Amino acid sequence: MSQTIEYQGQCHCGAVRWHLLSAPITEALKCTCSICRRRNSPMSKEYYGPNRFTLLSGEDALVLYKWGDGDVNHRFCGTCGVYPFHDTVQKPGHYRINLGCMPAVDLTALQITLFDGANLL
Ligand SMILES: [Zn+2]
Repeated sequence: MSQTIEYQGQCHCGAVRWHLLSAPITEALKCTCSICRRRNSPMSKEYYGPNRFTLLSGEDALVLYKWGDGDVNHRFCGTCGVYPFHDTVQKPGHYRINLGCMPAVDLTALQITLFDGANLL
């Protein structure tokens, strides 16, 4: 069984905070779609459900942004503008996380997979 780490995450101003239980995070996803190329965040490959993701604060600080077919709930901090995570209408409460928001993740060591969302979505 692989090791489980408790990662702490937050937006820039600290209004939105969470913790996450995960195997050591060594991989990330970057996507070329029109919103991902603008925010340029390394995202978790996995979606984390309620058994592993806990929002500690910031429910009321989060702003929802939707575009296109509206399938994805893009969530932003209304104060600092940082994008911490998103979920989908098909699986609400299962989040793909902005790994840049979790200090324990070594961004220089991530193996990044580029997903060509601009042409595949
Ligand atoms: Zn914030």
